[in-house]
Amino acid sequence: MALSPSVTNELLRQLDHRPNKKLGQNFLIDGNLVEKSISMADLPTNMPVLEIGPGLGTLTERLLAHGHSVYAVEIDRRLEAHLREQLASYIESGQFNLLRADAVKYPTANLPDEIDDFAVVANLPYAISSAWLEGLLGSGKLPLRMVIMLQKEATERMLASPGSKTFNALSIFLQACYKTGGKHAVPRQCFFPAPSIDSVLLRMDRLENRFPFPNHVRVLIRRIFTQRRKQLGSLIKNEDSAVQEVMHCWLKKQNLCPSIRPEKISCAEWTELARSIPEEI
Ligand code: SAM
Repeated sequence: MALSPSVTNELLRQLDHRPNKKLGQNFLIDGNLVEKSISMADLPTNMPVLEIGPGLGTLTERLLAHGHSVYAVEIDRRLEAHLREQLASYIESGQFNLLRADAVKYPTANLPDEIDDFAVVANLPYAISSAWLEGLLGSGKLPLRMVIMLQKEATERMLASPGSKTFNALSIFLQACYKTGGKHAVPRQCFFPAPSIDSVLLRMDRLENRFPFPNHVRVLIRRIFTQRRKQLGSLIKNEDSAVQEVMHCWLKKQNLCPSIRPEKISCAEWTELARSIPEEI
């Protein structure tokens, strides 16, 4: 396991690989943090785990050693080849399943359809953390639990409350399905190369009474949030007449004034809107 800057550097040299900034290649070099990710997830060993961006396989190896089946998606060809070599015995036994692809296009990697209960444990590439999460929430396959490493700012956006500057469409979709199960601050020195921003290890637990927003409503809410500071009444005018009608009824029913701004509307109120917009509209 590559758990120091010098060992990671040497491994990267052997692989003739330079960390790619655009792909968020900041590799974990802190053994305590690897174990913390696993203990925070607190999963039974028979729970399959989805990992996004296994990289050099540091976290992957520990997940496998703990007995989990791991389904992973990695975009980088060279890292894929390294993982296939390093974890060959786990691949052979079927415990490790690796897909080389873009996690945004394949948010659940190659997880078989018949697996309903699974968890996510991952040190997410920062550039795609929101896009991947959106894809996952829209995939219809919601993990029981997620323990994900994210940039601090991304965490703040995801957990933001209505009325705050960072509350956005993804905060709504995520909070309608998950609640925070724990947070752990992670200094940038835990990675090689060290990123310019600190991170957070975040546990999210799936809600019993979750509400996955349907695709057509997610598109609508995302569109509305591109002009989050405008009054909802004027934004509604850009929509089809059928959608306008439903939205006006919804505002009335929720006792919301048309001058309200999208960022002030609560998750529960957006959920009520979603329930009243049929797909065929
Ligand atoms: N899991 C490793 C660790 O903790 O040391 C690496 C984590 S590193 C922050 C992010 C990893 O995600 C890199 O291996 C990178 O190549 C991969 N990655 C970046 N963009 C990706 C994408 N769109 N789809 C799949 N993997 C991606």
